[in-house]
Amino acid sequence: EEDIKEKIEEIPQKVPETVKEAAEQSKELRKVTEEIEKAIEEKEEKKEIIEELKETPSKSEQSLEEEKPEEKKSFFSKIKSSLAYKITEEEFNSIFDDLEMLLLENNVALEAVEDIKLKLSEKLIDKEIQKSELETEIKNELKNTLNELLIEPDDPLDIIKLKTEKPFVILFFGINGTGKTTSIAKVTHLLKKQNLSVVLAAGDTFRAASIEQISEHAEKLNVPLIKHDYNADPAAVGFDAIKYAKAHNMDVVLIDTAGRMHTKANLIEEIKKIERVTSPDLKMFVAESIAGNDATEQAKTFHEAIEIDGAILSKADIDEKGGTIISISHATSKPIFYLGTGQNYED
Ligand code: GDP
Repeated sequence: EEDIKEKIEEIPQKVPETVKEAAEQSKELRKVTEEIEKAIEEKEEKKEIIEELKETPSKSEQSLEEEKPEEKKSFFSKIKSSLAYKITEEEFNSIFDDLEMLLLENNVALEAVEDIKLKLSEKLIDKEIQKSELETEIKNELKNTLNELLIEPDDPLDIIKLKTEKPFVILFFGINGTGKTTSIAKVTHLLKKQNLSVVLAAGDTFRAASIEQISEHAEKLNVPLIKHDYNADPAAVGFDAIKYAKAHNMDVVLIDTAGRMHTKANLIEEIKKIERVTSPDLKMFVAESIAGNDATEQAKTFHEAIEIDGAILSKADIDEKGGTIISISHATSKPIFYLGTGQNYED
């Protein structure tokens, strides 16, 4: 405004005397008018800028409370997004392809592998995992999944001691050559160390030399053996052994059986009959840990016929794979009570 006043004062006040003077005055007037207009324009612009500034509060005028959480949030979410990781379904499937091959090659049955895949996928897909923990987390979850398939067994010694009425009867069954007789000898040794009295039943009346084999063990272990002739009814041998145990107040009866595979139907009928006659307290399936899918199929067959209580897996000392343990546990949902780890009684 002061500028404008000054400019107006600059306009010549005297009346022109000549045309030339009048022209000069008018020129001067135009110049001053232009300057005034320019000044007014500038003033308007300044006004607008001030108005704008008034409407938009400056950063410094914003409250600190408003600003801080915004900064904090973006900071932490930045860290999170750079350190945390979520495994997608596609990634999981591609990781599992390799694992699937490994499991199958190591005697884990296909059905068990599929179940492992499902359980593991539920644990891993879309779970937020710290990048640095990715490998350990996957391994841990795999371990947990395998542990879920393996059933924790009660100690057979505790089960035996819990039974008040003697004797406690254990029926051993499985295919020939899998290690039934040897396992019976090992269990006898174990029970004797616990001061439990044992009687053996030579229920394998089919395989040549089987009665001699179990007789040898009975002699070495110094326990009585009930035997009949070859081809006698194994159920009757078991029945007699129980009678003997009752008569002599003995703690445990261990019944051996035949496992001829070429007549599967007969084998199953025979084992069902032995079960009916002897009413075992524990039905112990014996298989070789090196047999893989064959052992799993055998377990299923016996489980269907007489519902096994658990298993002994022999020859674990020569098994480089270990998957049979998972397969049989998965197929039967029953525990593996013992692993046979050699040919000696302590094994
Ligand atoms: P059965 O026909 O089922 O009674 O089987 P056997 O008890 O006669 O065992 C068959 C063979 O396997 C024998 O030579 C045993 O010594 C052997 N065996 C049994 N259990 C084991 C084991 O845990 N480890 C090893 N290395 N050999 C075993």
